[in-house]
Amino acid sequence: MSNLLFDRLLAPHQGQDTLFMKTPDGLALTHGAFLDIASQMANALKEAGLKPSDRVAVQVAKSPQALALYAASVQSGIVFLPLNTAYTVNELTYFIQDSGAAMVICDPSMEAELSPIAAHQNAQVMTLDAKGGGSLTNAAQEQSTLFTPISRADDDLAALLYTSGTTGRSKGAMLSQHNLLSNAETLVETWQFTKKDHLIHALPIFHTHGLFVASNISLLAGCSLTFMAKFDLDHIIDALPHATSMMGVPTFYTRLLDDPRLNADLVQNMRLFISGSAPLLAETHIQFEQRTGHKILERYGMTETNMNTSNPYDGDRRAGTVGFPLDGVDIRITDPDTHQPLPQGEIGMIEVKGPNVFSGYWNMPEKTQEEFRDDGFFITGDLGIIDQDGYISIVGRNKDLIIAGGFNIYPKEIELILDQQSGVLESAVIGIPHADFGESVIGVLTLENSASVDLDAMLKTVGESLARFKHPRQLVVVDELPRNSMGKVQKNILRDQFKSLLD
Ligand code: AMP
Repeated sequence: MSNLLFDRLLAPHQGQDTLFMKTPDGLALTHGAFLDIASQMANALKEAGLKPSDRVAVQVAKSPQALALYAASVQSGIVFLPLNTAYTVNELTYFIQDSGAAMVICDPSMEAELSPIAAHQNAQVMTLDAKGGGSLTNAAQEQSTLFTPISRADDDLAALLYTSGTTGRSKGAMLSQHNLLSNAETLVETWQFTKKDHLIHALPIFHTHGLFVASNISLLAGCSLTFMAKFDLDHIIDALPHATSMMGVPTFYTRLLDDPRLNADLVQNMRLFISGSAPLLAETHIQFEQRTGHKILERYGMTETNMNTSNPYDGDRRAGTVGFPLDGVDIRITDPDTHQPLPQGEIGMIEVKGPNVFSGYWNMPEKTQEEFRDDGFFITGDLGIIDQDGYISIVGRNKDLIIAGGFNIYPKEIELILDQQSGVLESAVIGIPHADFGESVIGVLTLENSASVDLDAMLKTVGESLARFKHPRQLVVVDELPRNSMGKVQKNILRDQFKSLLD
């Protein structure tokens, strides 16, 4: 028996005094010191009574200790459940209850509100603040730096990452040890990461991109990081001359392009800029190359599947495409209605199969069955096309998902709240283009007969129960929503009608 992730990502670094990460405020941590913190945390979690396969729900600011908590979970055989730091108590309650978490780890400021929710299911609460302090760290500091990793089967769960559901219910994607390790191995190979690399890590670590793509790759390759709590333009500009690689969402690149300090000299040590999580505009790709001489490498993945495709490392990186299937990953395009494979060059549903693909949704066997074909292909919900040369492009999102600043926003969740507001008959929430964030959220309303509403007050009320990134930027009232012959609201017409609303 072994523990794949521990054996490959963590064990080689034990006792090593090579640099693992530095932060903009001057902290430097060696690989060995990072492992020590993780092992102390693992001992503290064990002493608190956590057992292998228990879920630990974690809503904490990004810090080296927060990443060490992931490493502690890996070696303890605990299922790591990271949560967006923007989630409100209302939203967190669902995740804690649905996952049956045995422990909640949060910022000290959330402890009082989350304790009764945790107590309801006999879960414990520990804290970890933005500076890495809190009751978890206090308990860990008392512990030994030696921890014997717990054996795990390759298909045992390592993490549970929630994706929002179109029906308003979030689904927990079950990711196994093998899902995560196989993808990290493929990406290290494809993108040629070695221990000589220094990666700018400015992505959140509650999401697949920053947690698995960026962190697992770095641990597997043994490279070092500039680890930033969030995207900060000045910190990125400072880090670029000393870095070899960066992973970002498209917003990183548009913001860098807006800064006159970005030029070829600044990035002369860089070998690779990677983008994903949302579509990178071809225009951004081209402007970035003109300014820096670097072609951004765009890749495509999702919470449920890890990474699926990548533009080539050596070879033509084509703007507006997400490249080819990764080694070991099968991709096909099917007719969304008949489910039959379509010939190359036709738009259809992207389906994917491979060691990277999750095993199903937590406690949702029917939903899992709906989203997998009988032959094991996962239905991504993304519409795409494969061109003559084999390059894949994503042309739309079947489920009307909105992506703002790299975060997924499912309209249904906001519509359900808008529909409850006094005077509102029905609503449709859409994303309209936004130069910086990719998309902005807009709510289109129809009103009950002769109702008069205060739209500003409504925006405020709606905002109180939603994470900030989901807040609609504006509400507009129309006489009626456009519908097709089957009665479905035609959001494409609304998107077209309101595309310049915020200009
Ligand atoms: P998430 O589960 O948050 O990682 O979101 C996954 C979704 O993001 C995918 O299903 C796609 O719709 C979208 N996505 C990820 N990468 C890209 C990309 N390079 N281009 C376009 N959409 C992307």
